Amino acid sequence: MAKILIIEDELELVKVLRSYLENAGFSVVSALRGDTGLAAWQNEAPDLVLLDLSLPGLDGIEVTKAIRKTAATPIIIITARVEDTDRIVGLELGADDYVTKPFSPREVVARVKAVLRRAQPVEELTKKIIIKDLEIDAESYKVKKAGEPLELTRMEFAILQTMAEHPGKVFSRLQLLEAAQGVAYEGYERTIDAHIKNLRSKLGDKADRPNYIETSFGIGYSFKED
Ligand code: CA
Repeated sequence: MAKILIIEDELELVKVLRSYLENAGFSVVSALRGDTGLAAWQNEAPDLVLLDLSLPGLDGIEVTKAIRKTAATPIIIITARVEDTDRIVGLELGADDYVTKPFSPREVVARVKAVLRRAQPVEELTKKIIIKDLEIDAESYKVKKAGEPLELTRMEFAILQTMAEHPGKVFSRLQLLEAAQGVAYEGYERTIDAHIKNLRSKLGDKADRPNYIETSFGIGYSFKED
């Protein structure tokens, strides 16, 4: 459950936003001033900050600057001052999005979800992939086949995970190498073949009649779609 920090001095607005966000499954903390809001950001480590611009204590611009000094926490600015938005959301301050008052709480919830989705690294979106009789858990780096754990190396795990996230999509060896190692050097692509061979053996898969990993000759490999 993602935690949202609302920094807004209009108590009624805080109440409305809180109830909509909680209904959408978020946990919510709030502060009515910029300075206490910044302290709450430090203490609560929220996943996203909904930040009013004109606030007592510290204004929203100061709060954004303070947060951006050390963190990339997504920030959505709430403002009545339309003319400020370009400056705020642009590179200068680094807020992620804005909503202008008056707004519909529904729209705010939609923006919160969109910004959180964007902020999340792709590989973290899918913590667990369940495909065919495989269970691939990105948090524990464990794979089970029909409930039985398989002993995969990090490399084999990363290759399998990458392909299983997009069944049917053919990955080049270089793409798989890059997904598994973060970097890839041309000339080393063929090392993938050895990992695939080991993966197949551990999965009990056959290269000529695969159930999991298909070879696309001259291109690379894919996770077999049903
Ligand atoms: Ca205000």
